[in-house]
Amino acid sequence: MIAKRDSSPLNILEAISILHRVRTKDGPHHVIIIDEDESLFRQASIVVSDEANYPGLCKEQGQAIARQAITLVEHKPSMQRYLCHTILEALAKYVPGALEEVYPQILEQNLFFDSGLVFQDAQADTRDLLLSLLETKNKDMKRKWLTALAWIRDEVAVETFRAWRLTPPIWYQSTDRPIESFTRYAGWEFTTEGAVRDLYFHDGYELLSHGLVEEEQAGSMKVFQKIDQTCCWCGRPMVTGLDIDQSEDKLSFLTTHIPRLRFLFCINCSVQENIFSNLTDGGWSKHTPHPPYPLNPHYWEGMEECTLQAREHVVLGNRGHATGRYGRYWIGSNSQLGGLPQWVQEPDYPQCPSCKQCMLYLGQVEIGDVDSENDGSGVLFFFLCPTCQLGVYDIQCT
Ligand SMILES: [Zn+2]
Ligand SMILES: [Zn+2]
Repeated sequence: MIAKRDSSPLNILEAISILHRVRTKDGPHHVIIIDEDESLFRQASIVVSDEANYPGLCKEQGQAIARQAITLVEHKPSMQRYLCHTILEALAKYVPGALEEVYPQILEQNLFFDSGLVFQDAQADTRDLLLSLLETKNKDMKRKWLTALAWIRDEVAVETFRAWRLTPPIWYQSTDRPIESFTRYAGWEFTTEGAVRDLYFHDGYELLSHGLVEEEQAGSMKVFQKIDQTCCWCGRPMVTGLDIDQSEDKLSFLTTHIPRLRFLFCINCSVQENIFSNLTDGGWSKHTPHPPYPLNPHYWEGMEECTLQAREHVVLGNRGHATGRYGRYWIGSNSQLGGLPQWVQEPDYPQCPSCKQCMLYLGQVEIGDVDSENDGSGVLFFFLCPTCQLGVYDIQCT
């Protein structure tokens, strides 16, 4: 057993040090931690994975942590590799400059998640390294490198994507997606005229579950409220998935010029197909085409008796933690209004059925935050097109 000095909470460097020292053995499929060190390994993993431990670190501390994290992956179990990714991403979010010396190693050893978010703090030298890597014959890494380049998003990166959009490079032969679509991982895209457009609001707030509050206490935002409308597809009662009164000062960052945003939701059909709402009146949009295939009329068993209504409300919590060049982040919450999406799966911005542009990310609500008795792990993502005043949402599950 590894001895820990005292009973005070571990700091990140101590925790990484423990991760270095845990003893391993060969398991049936890969290297595993020996049983005696398992408990301390778990404690240390929790410390380094908790993003709340990163804000407030200075650049030098961040750099030391980054160097230690990278050495974790040498001759260690695969879970150490995952922890290294996690540590580097947290540093990229909360400690500007922490990774500037280690980007070459991050690239060389592929120490980043598919999201590429770790590169949001990278500079021109890393961009040039990425551009040269993309010219190599390595096909497997091209998508991750493109995503990384999208996060850097400096003038050269944007110009490069803009040129590729017109003439894809010879090394990019994918038929399933245009090369410029990788910019969506980093929350931006080109308009049809070629201008850069953000797909999210830079400001934002976390949403906190507010327990069993009365409807009138819920403030400017309501979730899953009964309304007097029925689904045009299945005839069942609908609810508003999200109803936001934008008159609150805190919400002025939502520059939609729509005073109230209401998203329709059918418990049966909305989980199978996109139902678009007229945000202004909260009604069914004529832009909701009937699906080209029959929907399952009983998608959720027992749904007939179920009247979906939030047991708990969400209220605006803290403003996003503003670090990094593009992101505002929350600690410990998966529900938020504004800010960068926290995708559960691949980034997926729906297309507006009217103007055909990507819809903007408005926010997300974790099911458990509005219904603590629901043990589902789904997250509802809300999107809108301010121009066409349409809203829609999507669900992603782990
Ligand atoms: Zn329906
Ligand atoms: Zn539109």
